[in-house]
Amino acid sequence: MSWSAWDFASTSGFTASLPLAQSTIDLDVAGRPDERVVERALDDPMTQVMFVNGPRVAVWRSDGVQAPDALMCDADPAAPRPDASAPVGHLNMAFIAGPAVRTEALREGALAVYLGRDRTEDRVVRYIALDVTRLGEQTGPRYESDLLARIGASCDWVELRSFAPCASAREAGLAVSAVAVCSWHASQRFCPSCGAPTRPILGGWAQACTNPEDADRLLFPRIEPAVITAIVDDSDRILLQHNRAWRPRFHSVSAGFVEAGESLEHAVRREAVEEVGIALGDVAYLGSQPWPFPASIMLAFRARALDSHIAVDGDEVESARWFTRDELVRAVACGAIEPPGRASIARHMIESWLGRELA
Ligand SMILES: [Zn+2]
Repeated sequence: MSWSAWDFASTSGFTASLPLAQSTIDLDVAGRPDERVVERALDDPMTQVMFVNGPRVAVWRSDGVQAPDALMCDADPAAPRPDASAPVGHLNMAFIAGPAVRTEALREGALAVYLGRDRTEDRVVRYIALDVTRLGEQTGPRYESDLLARIGASCDWVELRSFAPCASAREAGLAVSAVAVCSWHASQRFCPSCGAPTRPILGGWAQACTNPEDADRLLFPRIEPAVITAIVDDSDRILLQHNRAWRPRFHSVSAGFVEAGESLEHAVRREAVEEVGIALGDVAYLGSQPWPFPASIMLAFRARALDSHIAVDGDEVESARWFTRDELVRAVACGAIEPPGRASIARHMIESWLGRELA
């Protein structure tokens, strides 16, 4: 069977517009059990190696990118951030190959993840992500990496939420996978069952406990589902809320994590009641987007409010109000409210209701 980018592209109209849901890559799950899958890929001159640094990926430095200082965003990745600091223009992921990269990727303690492959016409291109935060860990603080110097001389580090809206679908997908998997390894170095160190297996997509008495326990990335809901009333107005933890004018739709043992639909209804005191009628699924900050997937719904009376909890949610389309456009235009960022599913839910892009 011959795969093309289209086979892995998004098919739903809503999901197709989400910057972090654009992966066109064949993850090649069947290739992961080969213990040398990373090494074999690195031996192939067609293979492309990209670089991850926390929630950031390396891009080629470009004169066409505005506000390069904003690319080095050290802000809390969980906090919404203004698009005003996001880059403008197309960003190209930096790929560097060669013996130096191979040496670093296969060094003891390195984390290199086999991201999958692109098969187009008669050639196959494999992709590897190398986590640079681990470079030098085994060789001490005085270790100086020629590779890091090379990246520093020609690349910028761009946070995933700034990168994805400015990248091709393939490179956005590679970046999301790489950040998600490497973030998991960064947060879990030891077996949660017995406390022994773990080691990456299956091309970096899983870990094995190194304690032989723990029966070769396999550990997979934990993904935390969150529901997010565009609530509209009988007048077709949308409900936007402002949470205490957000910047002063930032407004978005209702969202929250799914509790253990809870259905998605129950979580949607529970969050609406808890946060804004609204009971929901019909609830319909819209689409999903990974949100690896650090490990979420956002599951989007639209729902009809049974009545328009708002009662915010006053704790998490400070205020909430209904907007007609004209009211929302005016409020955003005059700066009275700041909408969610371009990479977020919340932004696309609001624009889907609005019928056009927000300015
Ligand atoms: Zn264990």
